[in-house]
Amino acid sequence: MTNEKADVPPKEKKEKKFKGVVVIERELCKGCAFCVEFCPTHVLELDKGFNAKGYHPPVFAKPDLCNGCDMCGLYCPDFAIFGYREKNEEPAGRFE
Ligand code: SF4
Ligand code: SF4
Repeated sequence: MTNEKADVPPKEKKEKKFKGVVVIERELCKGCAFCVEFCPTHVLELDKGFNAKGYHPPVFAKPDLCNGCDMCGLYCPDFAIFGYREKNEEPAGRFE
């Protein structure tokens, strides 16, 4: 009796086609933490430091987890943050 499962090659890891990027305007922030609370992948944390107005702005603490959904931007009442998706570089040597 043969084990058919042993012949199946392991699934190749899918390469992400894009990465999430976040832009934070520290000085517009008033530290409400809506962006931190509503980020679905828990990418953001409030900085321990202060901005000029005395608030703790968010920092992009776990960039690898960001999917660029812009939920942070949708919830920010002060337009101090937004997210977007950036296309990942094509592998070298591939032309279209
Ligand atoms: S763009 Fe989306 S995943 Fe990235 S920090 Fe903002 S809410 Fe989180
Ligand atoms: S939602 Fe906007 S104002 Fe509130 S902490 Fe985040 S960046 Fe600052």
